Amino acid sequence: MVKYIVDHIPGNTPLHRRPEYKMAPTSITIHNTGNMKSTARNERAYLTNPSNNRTASYHIVIDEHEAIECIPLNESTWHAGDGGAADSGNRTSIGIEICESGNYARTLDNTAELVASMLKERGWGVDRLRRHYDWSRKICPRLMYDNGSWAGWAVFKNTVAAKLKPKEVEHEMTKEDADKIIEFLKAGYAISAEPASRNEFNRLANELRKVSGQKEQ
Ligand SMILES: [Zn+2]
Repeated sequence: MVKYIVDHIPGNTPLHRRPEYKMAPTSITIHNTGNMKSTARNERAYLTNPSNNRTASYHIVIDEHEAIECIPLNESTWHAGDGGAADSGNRTSIGIEICESGNYARTLDNTAELVASMLKERGWGVDRLRRHYDWSRKICPRLMYDNGSWAGWAVFKNTVAAKLKPKEVEHEMTKEDADKIIEFLKAGYAISAEPASRNEFNRLANELRKVSGQKEQ
């Protein structure tokens, strides 16, 4: 799992970047930073940089190395570009900025991993995911858009969905359970005189060994 750092900007950060409006989020919105050079730490630093003259803000920024939570997830931020109405993205959605610097494939995988864990934690599916575009028609996350197609967005959602699925169990039965049942079969084997019966007990024991990840005998 990607390293997750909490480094909140203060409530008195200029330009109302952390308005401290309470929020009960109902979705997660994905962005790209639009800057090919900045890292998560750069983006976090930008929020409290005195030369920054924009009101824009975001909850989490993530790169190839780490995710940084800049504003608590139960407060509004200014990431969706759709104003401050009660049903706006700004007032209802957790904003995640994906950095474009460094190893982008790793950054994307980190993001899918983080988003999947956030959805799981809340009992949500990928239907809770939004693009910045969904709120205000900005072409963002821009790296999931290509010449009129949002195919990259579909791929991202599928990647998250795959991570949400429970892991395939390695074996269908534990070795311990299989061995207990095999003991009964051995007892049956021991009291069977007929070769056909013995073969059948042996075959069943081997089936149990197979489904519990053991070698056949
Ligand atoms: Zn955006």
